[in-house]
Amino acid sequence: MAMAKTRGILVVGGGISGITTAVEAAEVGYEATLIEKNPYLGGRVTQLNKYFPKLCPPNCGLEINFRRIKSNPRVKFYTLAEVEKISGTEGDYDVTIKLAPRFVNERCTACNACVEVCPVERPNEFNFGMDKTKAIYLPHDFAFPLRYVIDEKYCKKKECNKCVEACTYNAIDLNMKTQSLSLKVGSVVWATGWNPYDATKIDNLGFGKYQNVITNMMMERLASPNGPTKGKILRPSDGKEVSKVAFVQCAGSRDENHLPYCSYVCCLASIKQASYIREQYPDAKVIIFYIDIRTPGRYEKVYLNAQKDEKITFIKGKAAKMEEDPGTKDLTVVAEDALTLKKIREKVDMVVLAAGMVPTILESKIPSNIGYDENKFILSDSGVGGMYGIGCAKKPLDVYSSVQDATAAALRAIQSLVRR
Ligand SMILES: Cc1cc2nc3c(=O)[nH]c(=O)nc-3n(C[C@H](O)[C@H](O)[C@H](O)COP(=O)(O)OP(=O)(O)OC[C@H]3O[C@@H](n4cnc5c(N)ncnc54)[C@H](O)[C@@H]3O)c2cc1C
Repeated sequence: MAMAKTRGILVVGGGISGITTAVEAAEVGYEATLIEKNPYLGGRVTQLNKYFPKLCPPNCGLEINFRRIKSNPRVKFYTLAEVEKISGTEGDYDVTIKLAPRFVNERCTACNACVEVCPVERPNEFNFGMDKTKAIYLPHDFAFPLRYVIDEKYCKKKECNKCVEACTYNAIDLNMKTQSLSLKVGSVVWATGWNPYDATKIDNLGFGKYQNVITNMMMERLASPNGPTKGKILRPSDGKEVSKVAFVQCAGSRDENHLPYCSYVCCLASIKQASYIREQYPDAKVIIFYIDIRTPGRYEKVYLNAQKDEKITFIKGKAAKMEEDPGTKDLTVVAEDALTLKKIREKVDMVVLAAGMVPTILESKIPSNIGYDENKFILSDSGVGGMYGIGCAKKPLDVYSSVQDATAAALRAIQSLVRR
């Protein structure tokens, strides 16, 4: 069992929020340990094609932070890592971290020889199952660390051994086991982020039933140069180019049957994604069905600009039903225009559901008696000394606000170390 003795800050979750707290605290001079359950850092931002307000690719923001991590010996990070146990009080926590085996060591040069010989495929969760990877894979082109990983559920291990034989760097070790790491820390920052709401739960909108109904996060992957279609927006059923796409806002959000809250970013995300379509297909039409458009603060400008585009139509009306033509797989969105009170039937090639954000804690509870609100977001006052929730673990937020929140949390976490 590896032992590391520090009395610094533990940050759980290596998305933009967690990374920010870790590097900000480290740059002030405090030890920060960042743990992430995925095999790479960056969280959901890595899955975006571009992100507002600047509409740059995720790497432009993440790269700088990865460099800050690499150049600062006070930040240690572990991927495939989760908290197993935690005990103690503010200023003096004992934590046990479980490190799942990667089966690929630091000698990996990402040469891809292993992937070429691997005979097994698995659904690519990074692209929401829209393509496959081999059982040994690089999570995505810009993964940090840039190192392959083996999916234990699919790998045939020694029975196959082809990747081990193909690797000239001796980087694959199929004997790797789960490890445990003990840490002493003074404060714990929960930056566990969000998951997309499971759109199959919204029966009337056809996700999971009709192939051309996708979610907003699937749209990010379709538009990404490192996505399943190499950045070309093509509809899933037949790979056809699109000429008319509908966005359905509040797919789950602001609905007592699903998520009673507003997910904050979905209106902006759909307007952003409408621009992806309009850039690729200058003649394509976009219809956005909404209850209310919410583009807070300076983001209002983004909405006003989209309204100037004559090919983008905003319809105030909640989509009630989705129908599919079984032959062409085209879809008809049925809604009522709330302003004219007329029933609308819009035939489109593809529908994007603006699915909301739910805290990851819903799926994997964190081992702490920290306080949550009724939707399982961590409370601002966590109720436990020296423990802080930040970013989308606390509420749905954009990157800018997550980073602000994470920077403030670095200060609070430092106070927990020096308060005694
Ligand atoms: C469709 C869509 C488009 C968006 N586009 C934009 C945009 O253009 N601009 C913008 O500003 N915002 C955008 N957002 C919002 C943006 O994704 C969030 O602001 C951002 O992801 C918040 O970062 P985070 O670090 O708080 O959470 P996350 O990105 O979710 O990161 C959390 C990390 O914690 C890890 N984790 C979770 N649980 C554990 C655990 N128990 N142990 C260890 N690790 C754990 C996760 O694997 C993940 O890596 C968009 C959101 C959606 C839905």
